[in-house]
Amino acid sequence: MKEITVLSGKGGTGKTSITAALASLFEKTVFCDNDVDAADLHLIFKPEVVENHDFEYGWDMHIDASVCKKCGICQTYCRFDAIGLDDQGVMDINGFRCEGCRLCEKVCPAKAISATPNCNNRWFISSTRFGSMVHAEMGVGEENSGKLVSLIRQKSRELAKEKGAHYILNDGPPGIGCATVASITGSDAVVVVIEPSVSGWHDAQRLMELVEQWGIPIYAVINKYDLHRPMTEKIVSYLEHHHIPLLAKVPWSKDFVTSMEQQQNIIEYDPTSEAAKAVKKVWTELK
Ligand code: SF4
Ligand code: SF4
Repeated sequence: MKEITVLSGKGGTGKTSITAALASLFEKTVFCDNDVDAADLHLIFKPEVVENHDFEYGWDMHIDASVCKKCGICQTYCRFDAIGLDDQGVMDINGFRCEGCRLCEKVCPAKAISATPNCNNRWFISSTRFGSMVHAEMGVGEENSGKLVSLIRQKSRELAKEKGAHYILNDGPPGIGCATVASITGSDAVVVVIEPSVSGWHDAQRLMELVEQWGIPIYAVINKYDLHRPMTEKIVSYLEHHHIPLLAKVPWSKDFVTSMEQQQNIIEYDPTSEAAKAVKKVWTELK
């Protein structure tokens, strides 16, 4: 079983559109949406949820105003500036700033502060027309996306083993943060979708430098290559120089947007289009 992760370095390169199209080509595969902060693969996959689980991680902190003496000790100790008086003059905790370290709970002499487990994140196992899918949903402003990615990747491995799958295809998050690191670890190969723009190329290089730290094989796809041909040539020459195989160059196509509006991937929408043919080349080269 091979685990392949599709990444991009930056959002908006077409990573998820290409992953969704590859779903029509990968056989006996479990799909895993690692972009838990802004999951969108489900928009095309239209999953039917089979299992629905809470992901408890971190703490929600509360101050009992009827017990609080407003001594300010908790405010002094909080390193995240999360505690202060609200508009009504009540000592309160700002949930968006609070990191859930529980130090305030320990230092409060009046025992006015309590913690409850955070249950704002969920993960799912679903059935789709392409096969099984493991995905997640984080609450607004919630943290620990890296932990959640590690969890759903573990669940997708268990599912792949149970189903005798040949592949796990991960749709990774943008950037090079914690969730991306959690997506890379343990992958057999990383496919980097590169957009020929200044930021797209900068962020893709930064990502490839990061992946090289693991010694995991990197493969490249240049998406929308015809939007900036000089930049595309620069990228091709970099890839050659660094011995990174270029799987395919995918042309810009309005069909990507039209197919998405119909909740289809580009291969389902028009398998004879140039963009669909280029995605098929990604698969044959990678295979
Ligand atoms: S330390 Fe406790 S009593 Fe003092 S302000 Fe904070 S919550 Fe209130
Ligand atoms: S749990 Fe930690 S971060 Fe949150 S308010 Fe208390 S001291 Fe600050």
